[in-house]
Amino acid sequence: MIGRYNMRVEVVLVQRERFVVRLARVDTEYEFGMSLQMKELLERLSKCRRCGEECKNLDSHFSCPGRYREVVHNGKVIEALDDLYMILPKAALEEFGSQERRETSRRAGFMRALRIKRASGKYSEKEVSALAKVQGWRCFYCLTSIRSPIPFHRDHYVPLSTGGTNEIANIVLACLPCNSKKHDLHGDTFFASMASNLSDERSRELQALKSAVVAWRNRPATRKLSEIVLEVAAREADGTDV
Ligand SMILES: [Zn+2]
Ligand SMILES: [Zn+2]
Repeated sequence: MIGRYNMRVEVVLVQRERFVVRLARVDTEYEFGMSLQMKELLERLSKCRRCGEECKNLDSHFSCPGRYREVVHNGKVIEALDDLYMILPKAALEEFGSQERRETSRRAGFMRALRIKRASGKYSEKEVSALAKVQGWRCFYCLTSIRSPIPFHRDHYVPLSTGGTNEIANIVLACLPCNSKKHDLHGDTFFASMASNLSDERSRELQALKSAVVAWRNRPATRKLSEIVLEVAAREADGTDV
């Protein structure tokens, strides 16, 4: 668990000797906010833009009456009263930048975990190994072996970011290069582009793999339904109460 602080930080102005960051409150249940390391960095290096004092404690500056001046940059008002503005020396830009880059990758991980948490559905490890068997331990997009110990990714065919679910019906197993190349593309789009790069024979193999996965996905539900229909029909036939 990474410690987070309930504000988001954003550089709004870079000048010759200083730069200004805006801190806006966020709900850390739904947004990453910033890390405690970033908070510590700001408290160590920044001055409050309203009162001109050193920060020491970010929270205390929310109540600064201060002198509010509208800051206009490129024709846009960039300062608003309900956010905190902090001034940092330009010399700190590099340190700030490297902290911010770490934050960006943590934020990506956080947002991804959040999307999975919020997406409907959940698949089991049993389903994943069944799917691996159906795929013949080959990557869904390029047929490369994903047999152990080669690691594979559980790819959301329709990305979570575009409303895909976290159910097994939306999961395909892919090799690491394919998964990272696919990124946030829809599975159909990526599959088509991968298939077009293969020889006719390999492309047919890939299509066959896809058909096998589709058939596997459809099978359990269909069988269940037909079983129920048969069961009901049988009961009706011997007059059992349903
Ligand atoms: Zn202040
Ligand atoms: Zn692949």
